[in-house]
Amino acid sequence: MNDTTKPLNFIEKIITEDLQSGKIKQVKTRFPPEPNGYLHIGHAKSIVLNFGLAKTFGGTCNLRFDDTNPAKEEVEYVESIKEDVRWLGFKWDGAVRFASDYFDQLHAWAVYLIEEGKAYVCDLSQQEAREYRGTLTEPGKNSPYRERSIEENLRLFEKMRKGEFAEGSCTLRVKIDMAHPNMQMRDPVIYRIKKQKHHQTGDKWCIYPSYDFAHGQEDAIEGITHSICTLEFEEHRPLYDWFIENLPVPATPHQYEFSRLNVNYTVTSKRKLKQLVDEKYVDGWDDPRMPTISGMRRRGFTPKSIREFCDMAGVTRTDGVVDVSMLEFAIREDLNANAVRAMCVLRPLKVVLTNYPEDKKEVMIAPGHPQRDDLGTRKLPFGREIYIDQDDFRESANKKYKRLVIGKRVRLRNAYIIEADEAIRDDQGEIIEVRARVIEDTVGKNPADGIKAKGVIHWVSADESIDCEVRLYDRLFTEASPDAGGKDFLQSINPYSLEVVQGCKGEVSLAQATTEDHYQFEREGYFILDSRYSSADKPVFNRTIGLRDTWDKAKDKIG
Ligand code: ATP
Ligand code: MG
Repeated sequence: MNDTTKPLNFIEKIITEDLQSGKIKQVKTRFPPEPNGYLHIGHAKSIVLNFGLAKTFGGTCNLRFDDTNPAKEEVEYVESIKEDVRWLGFKWDGAVRFASDYFDQLHAWAVYLIEEGKAYVCDLSQQEAREYRGTLTEPGKNSPYRERSIEENLRLFEKMRKGEFAEGSCTLRVKIDMAHPNMQMRDPVIYRIKKQKHHQTGDKWCIYPSYDFAHGQEDAIEGITHSICTLEFEEHRPLYDWFIENLPVPATPHQYEFSRLNVNYTVTSKRKLKQLVDEKYVDGWDDPRMPTISGMRRRGFTPKSIREFCDMAGVTRTDGVVDVSMLEFAIREDLNANAVRAMCVLRPLKVVLTNYPEDKKEVMIAPGHPQRDDLGTRKLPFGREIYIDQDDFRESANKKYKRLVIGKRVRLRNAYIIEADEAIRDDQGEIIEVRARVIEDTVGKNPADGIKAKGVIHWVSADESIDCEVRLYDRLFTEASPDAGGKDFLQSINPYSLEVVQGCKGEVSLAQATTEDHYQFEREGYFILDSRYSSADKPVFNRTIGLRDTWDKAKDKIG
């Protein structure tokens, strides 16, 4: 174990016992996404769990695409999923696997079940099959095709494979028990006709195995010891076991279920996220407001913060909703410790320092991080004209306002104390400039006259700064459970989830920013260069998260 202070979760306990009893020699897990969308924060939980267990117990974890449904799956999704797993910091064992790699074997096992008299071709329509299935309180009825001979079934299944039947006209089902209390066991379908091209196998197949017929057998082929999935598959476990018992599989994997990760103010369903993308509520799967791993990456989340969050959420069998502020806490913790500091003025207001010579230039030295010498220092050019934020100046204000006020002093971060004299207005009466004075000899020192500054504000040199755009994000939904109880989640989209601020002025060090560098813009939050909209002429920075939790205030704005 790499962390002896934390109690084991229930899956870790099971694995520990299995290793101790000699039931298994080495743990082998897998992460089995269906490539029908981009991964979201819920998948991160499954990734951290599966790859994490392998790491903790010295085993391995496979990445296997569950691509049994050609209709909704695409190569784009396969590529994005691989990138996300890698970015989260995990390495799968050997090559990437696909359920479709095993189609030949699965087909052979379907034939085997027919030969054993345990599977039959059924001509009931979908509607009829539903009626025959019964309900939770009533047993089902046997299909009229259930007693077909082995020879006839073999012949019909071969015709299915060759594409001689229309889609929907028949299926291959296993013969278990139509009166079984578990509906999953009432002769489930294991092969369907789908005349569709597959992204891996092309036109080779026109019949495709069901998820249930594929998953456990794939686990067995790969030697997976602990097949971990979410609770909605609990009911499928007897069927999982039935296939393992009734087929000549090379190993006997076991399925274990844990509860899904749900986060408030978020939806975690690929289908719903796809709808947000398709209907253009967001600008793609990696929109920084999306709870997708790619969106979070673009927004400036770190792999470490996501892993930490998943660990904090824990592994249980009880459904619950995790507060999104826990995720925000995880990212703030990481960035506070590791992000380089910088100054960026979002809404610039020019300040002319009237007693500072026009031709004088200085360079202030600021730390890259207040506690981390290893993050070096920054050079801040200083001159007669600077920008401060419009919010940091008032002509008059009460004592609580610890920024620049006429006749009062404020410290410019990493530079002088200044005192404001006058506000200059344009024809419309808007303040366009402030006249102020520097107090001599106050860089890193208090003034000789003993009149201290009340607050500290950030600034940039007017001559030497970069022009940039800043994008501020808020939660995508205004309701804590946007899709609870079948509610239309589109109704609670937050109209203020994106604010684009143009004309920002950043310190010169930001000219070197890459999409790998995290910054704390002092007093504004944590930022990263946007990977889509940035250009050499105009960098665009995404606010990953504010410095503090300001959601309660924002809610007041929304009403
Ligand atoms: P979605 O409903 O978003 O499509 P899914 O479960 O259908 O999710 P898969 O691609 O089949 O998505 O999931 C891959 C793995 O991730 C599965 O083992 C699944 O159980 C797990 N997983 C999916 N969503 C969550 C979640 N919210 N919390 C934890 N694990 C999840
Ligand atoms: Mg799924």
